[in-house]
Amino acid sequence: MEFKSFLIKYGEIGVKGKNRYLFENALMQQIKYALKRCDGEFAVHKAEGRVYVDALSDFDYDEVTDNLKTVFGISGICPMTFANDEGFDKLKEFVVAYMKKVYPDVKEGTTFKVYARRSNKRYPLDSMELNAKLGEAILEAVPALKVDVHAPDITLYVEVREKIYVYSRIIPGPGGMPVGTGGKAMLLLSGGIDSPVAGYMIAKRGVKIDAVYFHAPPYTSERAKQKVVDLARKVSRYAGPVYLHVVNFTDIQLAIYDKCPQDELTIIMRRYMMRIAETIAKETGCLGLITGESIGQVASQTLASLAVTNEVCTLPVFRPCIGMDKLEIVDISERIDTYETSILPYEDCCTIFVAKHPVTKPSAEIIRKHEHNLDEVIDGLVETALKTRETIVVSVDK
Ligand code: ATP
Ligand code: MG
Repeated sequence: MEFKSFLIKYGEIGVKGKNRYLFENALMQQIKYALKRCDGEFAVHKAEGRVYVDALSDFDYDEVTDNLKTVFGISGICPMTFANDEGFDKLKEFVVAYMKKVYPDVKEGTTFKVYARRSNKRYPLDSMELNAKLGEAILEAVPALKVDVHAPDITLYVEVREKIYVYSRIIPGPGGMPVGTGGKAMLLLSGGIDSPVAGYMIAKRGVKIDAVYFHAPPYTSERAKQKVVDLARKVSRYAGPVYLHVVNFTDIQLAIYDKCPQDELTIIMRRYMMRIAETIAKETGCLGLITGESIGQVASQTLASLAVTNEVCTLPVFRPCIGMDKLEIVDISERIDTYETSILPYEDCCTIFVAKHPVTKPSAEIIRKHEHNLDEVIDGLVETALKTRETIVVSVDK
């Protein structure tokens, strides 16, 4: 069967009313971004309150459907075939041929119904007549089928417009909201498993993602940085182009190492990461921060540690992995294809300067007091780190 067009179904929640066009425009923009990775030429358009992708040239069906599955806001992808209106007899033939081709080995007793819609009201048959007559023709041609109008195995949609469109399969989309409809947030992206998943989950709600990575050369290598760029690229399949800020964190880390108690290194370091991420976030119009933290995963992620980290931020911090077990996070990372990259064994700056016995119940007051040890140097170091950051635009084109 030759599919030349896709009907894009999207969830109706939040789509009604006067903002609907914003939602649809963002959806169409993200669809175009996903199709740039596919061979072939496509037209994405809106008609009668629905979004369509039409192929204008040859294309690879699997490549197109795989890439459409990365577009948040799509609830279903319906491959359609269409014919010119050449009279009802031709339509019957067309519909029967469709059923035979798409369901070649149909099992005895498989149920179906025809669901016709007629937006071209000049068409000589109305939708009830179309349902009945096309149903009859199919039964005659494929005797193994049975009609069930309540819970059929197969629903054959027939839409009579300027042309006649036929589809029956709905490939599930990723759900969520189109990226760009929910503002922008700053992801703290490390080379680990959790933070790419966290970015994916927030992007799924329509939020555009920028990212910041804290790099500590020469303790962390170029390969470790490249791994983060690669992860950002994988996230950008779903989230659209990502501005990745690479911040040189070495001197700040060395100062903390030098002047603060060993068991508090991680927590103090995390506070500086949050402060710097927040400064960049505010400069670039982000409305929140995102981390991959999950309660209890490591010492810096106990409730007490999270509270002490959190207090340096004024923007909301989104932690979509917070209640997930590692295995659940791994499942998602495998599904979105970040896992293999995340487990590459390059060092990350959190693990190089870790204490043997980090505090698990830090007191904010004591941490604040020890941070004063940095007073003489820290403002200059933070300013330099911000000024010297490198910004890489990461996106996926073919
Ligand atoms: P992940 O698997 O996401 O790296 P983790 O389990 O290694 O998380 P931590 O190292 O404690 O946990 O980091 C917690 C969160 O802090 C990360 O999910 C990430 O959002 C952020 N983070 C940690 N290190 C960095 C870094 N070098 N650059 C940017 N963000 C970081
Ligand atoms: Mg990490």
